[in-house]
Order: sequence, then structure tokens, then C-alpha cells
Amino acid sequence: MDRNEKQSKSELNRREFIAASVTAGAAMAMSGGAAAGGEAAAAPFVLEPLPFAENALEPVISARTLSFHYDKHHRGYLNNLNRLIENTPYAKMPLGQIVRETAGKADATGLFNNAAQTWNHTFYWKSLKPGGCEVPAALRAKIEADFGSVEACTKALAEAAVTQFASGWAWLVSENGRLKIVKTSNAETPLMQGAKPLLTIDVWEHAYYLDYQNRRADHVAAVIAKLLNWDFAAKNLQA
Ligand code: MN
Repeated sequence: MDRNEKQSKSELNRREFIAASVTAGAAMAMSGGAAAGGEAAAAPFVLEPLPFAENALEPVISARTLSFHYDKHHRGYLNNLNRLIENTPYAKMPLGQIVRETAGKADATGLFNNAAQTWNHTFYWKSLKPGGCEVPAALRAKIEADFGSVEACTKALAEAAVTQFASGWAWLVSENGRLKIVKTSNAETPLMQGAKPLLTIDVWEHAYYLDYQNRRADHVAAVIAKLLNWDFAAKNLQA
């Protein structure tokens, strides 16, 4: 096999792999329930496939950003998590429970950070959809009741994402039957406050710096306009 043949063969394998990943992701999304909420089974945790191809979010999020973000950052948190829970009682817990049980514990900061970042990223990928989608009717009615309009809701989400100082996350959550926008620092998650996350935007610099450098507001506006998975939010609200 010459070099070109080898190259095209490996390209083909890569494409087949991506197609298989997309199928697996779609199957997982359809299974709903635990998978939709990012509540993975117990250890050792496995990196879920991305629910889309690495170039599917271009031009808002480049394949290069997605490749580093998923395969280096997300995988790194997951590997650290598996290492830290080995031979501990946490190895028998679902991921969401590890996050809740380590939150605020001074002797479990490293485990909390890696568990929460693993959970947050799985949830983030599902919060995005190539091309975005319409807000389903039932969720739209709830948003209009609690924010006045979808525009007011996305404006508040953008403001939370842009004003989160340094690294963190902006979220649409449901808390005590009411929709709210919240922001969290570093690995922190609304799960800690007992709120139910519906959607999230990652505002760590690794999420946008290769594509937007310091222009976080432009990145956030593009994600909100073009990539939010409102079907996922609606499913989480019903769950
Ligand atoms: Mn991230």
C-alpha cells in the first residue's frame, strides 16, 4: 500500500468511526432518562461519544477547538476521575452522586473538580446541536411565563455567560418549579444547589479561544443564535 492509499484508508476509517459515533450518540439521546441528564453508570466511567461529528458545529466552534475540548480536556477530567475513585467508596456511585457528595468537601476538592467537569462536559455536548433548533411549544410557554419571552431568556443567558468572571458555566435551570439563569465558577454546577439543569454554555477559555480569542461575547452570541439544543432542554424539563 503506498502512502496515498494508506492516507485515504485512514481517512475512511476516521469517517466510519465518526459515523458510528454519531449513531451511538443518537441512540443514547433517544434512550433519554439517565443518559439525557448526563447521569452515567458507575465506575470506571467511559467517555460518551460526541453526539455529532467534530466539524458539525463549524463555523461557530471549529473542529480544532472541538477536538482539543473533547479529546484532551473532557477526556483528561474523566481519566483523573477514574484514577481518583479507584478503590474508594465513590467507585460504586453514579457520577451525579459523586458530584453532590464531594461538593464543598475540603478533602475532596480534586475529585469534585474532575467529577463535576466530567458531568458538565457530557451535559454541554448535549446542549449543542448543529444548526440549533426551535424552542418546543411546552418549553416556550414555560419560558414566556417565567422570563416574559424567549428573547429575554436568551439575553439573560448571554449576560450570565459574558459576566462570569474567569472560568465557568452559564445555565438555564429549573428550581422549585421556576426557570432561572445561573452562572457557576470553575467546575461548580447547579446540581450542588438541587436545581435541575436544562442547558449549559461552557465559558472556560478553552471553549472558544482558538476561534474567538478574547471575544467571549461574540462566541456566546453565536452559540445562542446557532447551536442551542432546545429539544434537549425540553426533555430535561420533563424528566
Ligand atoms: Mn470545557
